[in-house]
Amino acid sequence: MENMNWSDLSFGYMKTDYNVRCYYRDGQWGELEICSSDIVNIHMAATCLHYGQESFEGLKVFKGKDGKARVFRMDENAKRMQSSSRGIRMPELPVEKFEEAVRTVVKLNKRFIPPYESGASLYVRPLMLGLGAQVGVKPATEYLFMIFVTPVGPYFKGGFKPSDVCIMREYDRAAPCGTGTIKVGGNYAASLVAGERAHSQGYAAVLYLDPREKKYLDECGPANFFAIRGNSYITPQSNSILPSITNKSLMQLAESMGMTVERRPVPVEELATFDEAAECGTAAVIAPIGRIDDLDENKSYVFSADGKPGPVCEKLYTRLRAIQYGDEPDTFGWVTVLD
Ligand SMILES: *Cc1c(COP(=O)(O)O)cnc(C)c1O
Repeated sequence: MENMNWSDLSFGYMKTDYNVRCYYRDGQWGELEICSSDIVNIHMAATCLHYGQESFEGLKVFKGKDGKARVFRMDENAKRMQSSSRGIRMPELPVEKFEEAVRTVVKLNKRFIPPYESGASLYVRPLMLGLGAQVGVKPATEYLFMIFVTPVGPYFKGGFKPSDVCIMREYDRAAPCGTGTIKVGGNYAASLVAGERAHSQGYAAVLYLDPREKKYLDECGPANFFAIRGNSYITPQSNSILPSITNKSLMQLAESMGMTVERRPVPVEELATFDEAAECGTAAVIAPIGRIDDLDENKSYVFSADGKPGPVCEKLYTRLRAIQYGDEPDTFGWVTVLD
């Protein structure tokens, strides 16, 4: 890995040395297995393939100046995966087992953790699949939980810069009482058409509205939404939003910086009153929004006309990254140093 150009890596897949797997059979989870193949051999009638009985997670490991690898809030990912399991009738993986799997797979692929200076990180992707041969619609009897890792480059290659998003009312990411609050592949499949349409028109993402009334802001395809107004951090509350761990952390940070945090339904028109707007998630931490175009109403909301992110977004971004890389003391207890 000596002559690897870590900073040039994209958010893509690179084969690493090992992945870890754990099977659920006869009503219980088995032992962790270490595997060097990146192929999964499953029955063609598995429930994950036909009926979408599948969930996933995403988290990152960062190498610090001190050479130590740190993982960010993996207990939160473990708990969220349990919530996804409950949502689509899969067995819950114990938090300890999830954490053991993360530690094991990171240790086995140590040479793929990008160095501190690169601004890159090791992306950790846990997933759970319903297995077994079944044609009737019912939960599987066997499951596979696995984690693979792959190094990913810094999200902002040309610096921390805003991008534009759009509102399109003819698409929903998730139903009002559906699977929006859990991390399942089906939500992503449902967002591909709108996402491609947005990209082809030059937008980074779609900002979805609440699917019941189309009156309130929900979130972007793979990221939560938040805005800054004066001293307030405002983020939508809805029953079709995925609870982002980044958003949760930013809310805590904002509060610790003396800001007021408002988590509530946010009417679309309120966009006109915000000083800053952004997407947030593991991939970018914060992706500032320059402009939101409401394509149905022919309206634009501008948050950055000069191509620069707002000062509060910049501050939150810098602080959270500093905690993740171990540059700043972790007063919240978010980081686990791995050996
Ligand atoms: C994963 C995900 C996010 C971001 O969550 P983080 O825990 O911050 O990475 C936001 N929205 C959706 C729909 C997601 O699937």
